[in-house]
Amino acid sequence: MRFLITGAAGFLGSALANRLAAEGHAVRGLDDLSTGNPQSLSPDIFLTRGDVNDRPKLWTLLQDVDCVFHLAARVSVPESVLYPREYNTVNVGGTVTLMEATRDVGVRRVVLVSSGAVYGDQKEQPLTENATPNPRSPYAVSKLAAEYYVRTIGMLWGIETVILRVFNAYGPGQHLPPVHAPVIPYFLRQAFHNGTLVVHGDGTQTRDYVYIDDVVNAMASAATASGVDQKTINVGSGVETSTRDLVRQVVEVTGGSPEVVYNPRNEGGPRRMRADLTLARKLLSYQPLTPLSVGLRNTLEQDPKIRQN
Ligand code: NAD
Repeated sequence: MRFLITGAAGFLGSALANRLAAEGHAVRGLDDLSTGNPQSLSPDIFLTRGDVNDRPKLWTLLQDVDCVFHLAARVSVPESVLYPREYNTVNVGGTVTLMEATRDVGVRRVVLVSSGAVYGDQKEQPLTENATPNPRSPYAVSKLAAEYYVRTIGMLWGIETVILRVFNAYGPGQHLPPVHAPVIPYFLRQAFHNGTLVVHGDGTQTRDYVYIDDVVNAMASAATASGVDQKTINVGSGVETSTRDLVRQVVEVTGGSPEVVYNPRNEGGPRRMRADLTLARKLLSYQPLTPLSVGLRNTLEQDPKIRQN
């Protein structure tokens, strides 16, 4: 098959691109390299540097493509609180631009990588796809708006669409910026160097941490699965882990002795998050295979950024 992946040089995009290329598919990538790293991609992948809002570039890249994976986005919740306009331009505007281009060129299927963040705080756990979204940050709003655009434009123009709500993905290769870093690489790095771990809230909030290989399996299945058109599907581990427990596991795997500081002024988002995987199991034959302890060890061992000073 022929694929276009937007955000192909990013954490999830590069892992997906490398998997599809290794399976013998023709893979093109589009990435503005704002956070992505082109060196994470195998040489078989044709990467173009460019903005997801660049329509002429999209028209060219979409020629003869069977399926588009749309991952290009700004991805930090706290950064989105500071720069909501930027998040709207890239995450919402970029999605509309891409859908218009897929309509113009004629692509069979679009897979949008959305986020469990769209659920926000919910009474019922585990979170099922029919829960009413309750986005609590500009990032979550932008991902939800992108979902609606993908679904609606797809319906109007006969493009198959699949929306994957990925929960907290982690693994080797995750971007580790100096500020607003994702929690797992940040905790691993701080613990490995016996630094300080700042925990938002009291540490009892829970998240569903899902290892990159499991996310890649789900994304790859979404390209070819039948019965998925216009479906929204959770992708997580199905396991709820509190931040306190995450700290414990990180300390165990690194063998470090970091100082752990709680910051009660920042509640750290929704209280609980756990994905219901019934739909993913049924439609994508999805089965999360990597427990958190194994995923943390792999990340520590395979990601040199974490061990660098
Ligand atoms: P990432 O930052 O590594 O990947 C995003 C990629 O998009 C980067 O390579 C970046 O350079 C590129 N990009 C940003 N703005 C762009 C633009 N205007 N034009 C072209 N490319 C642009 O983050 P990631 O974790 O790999 O996230 C990928 C996707 O998965 C995002 O859509 C994100 O919302 C979604 N997601 C991620 C997680 C997670 O836990 N990592 C969870 C849920 C959903």
